[in-house]
Amino acid sequence: MYDCIILGSGCAGLSAAIYAQRAKFNNIVIEKIYKGAGQITESERVDNYMGLYGENGFSLGMKFREHAEKLGTQFIEATVTHIEKADNHWNILTDDGKTWESKTVIYALGTQRRKLGITGEKEYTGKGVSYCAVCDGAFYRKKVVAVVGGGDTALSDALLLSKFAEKVYLIHRRNDFRANRTVQENIQSVNNIECIMNSNVTKISGERRVKSITLKNDMGEETEIAVNGVFVAIGSIPNTKILESIAELDDNGYVKADETGITTADGLFVAGDVRTKVLRQVITAASDGANCVFSVENYLREKCR
Ligand SMILES: Cc1cc2nc3c(=O)[nH]c(=O)nc-3n(C[C@H](O)[C@H](O)[C@H](O)COP(=O)(O)OP(=O)(O)OC[C@H]3O[C@@H](n4cnc5c(N)ncnc54)[C@H](O)[C@@H]3O)c2cc1C
Repeated sequence: MYDCIILGSGCAGLSAAIYAQRAKFNNIVIEKIYKGAGQITESERVDNYMGLYGENGFSLGMKFREHAEKLGTQFIEATVTHIEKADNHWNILTDDGKTWESKTVIYALGTQRRKLGITGEKEYTGKGVSYCAVCDGAFYRKKVVAVVGGGDTALSDALLLSKFAEKVYLIHRRNDFRANRTVQENIQSVNNIECIMNSNVTKISGERRVKSITLKNDMGEETEIAVNGVFVAIGSIPNTKILESIAELDDNGYVKADETGITTADGLFVAGDVRTKVLRQVITAASDGANCVFSVENYLREKCR
């Protein structure tokens, strides 16, 4: 029986692992990706984490992971499929058929990109459809691309892509963007970005790779635009499906908890992007991991003597 099992090895899970080792918990981390270090590994450059200005995201993630490894953290490579509370502990089930028992759980499974759910999206993912402009933008040098979305991520992606691509269509289903004013002003000053408002992408077409998208505007009119790539930036969904009947979630599916990470389920703590919070970043995820271990320490002291 473990004192604590940490689910996910993104910034939150790795920070929790570092603190758990220092607190001398009998603990493991379960992560589905080989040597995974979470979403930050997709970032080309991180400028807002203290002391590591301009660090490449992959290298930053690896530094976090190596830090945990140096302190002796044991990583299990498996996908968590189910968790359940037994009398006085938690059972964690993984896709290799194993069950792991622990007095407490730190849930740090992060988020995943929201999909458009239209014809061609799945078929052309990796063949012109991307969810990460930072990762794939450079493949579209002198090409024509579309960015779908109207928030900070979509507009930042359009700006980034405008540096590589010949032309960027920024397609948004509403009349105005939700992104911050500065980014909106920057978009207006770039002449190879064309904004198409009040329009939905209804279909992605191609042969071996993406060749065009079909748009439908508010008036019901359809147009087809030739593009080489489609960047989908319409938000994220928290990885909380397995928690639905276990802990209280908010309307968007995030686990309800403050910075202590204490959830409505006894002995289950939550850290990182997957919890209710205003700012989803490396620094807040790392802070959550540390706070959770402090909460687990109190829990073990009070309830598991
Ligand atoms: C392209 C990009 C650029 C970014 N740039 C910045 C930046 O410049 N500065 C900044 O501060 N933040 C940035 N962020 C945000 C930052 O990456 C996140 O806030 C941070 O990674 C959240 O960490 P987390 O540990 O909560 O979740 P995640 O990083 O999402 O980690 C969750 C982990 O859980 C694992 N997992 C999920 N489901 C399962 C399962 N069922 N079983 C086992 N393992 C599972 C995943 O594989 C993953 O490793 C960026 C994000 C992206 C995508």
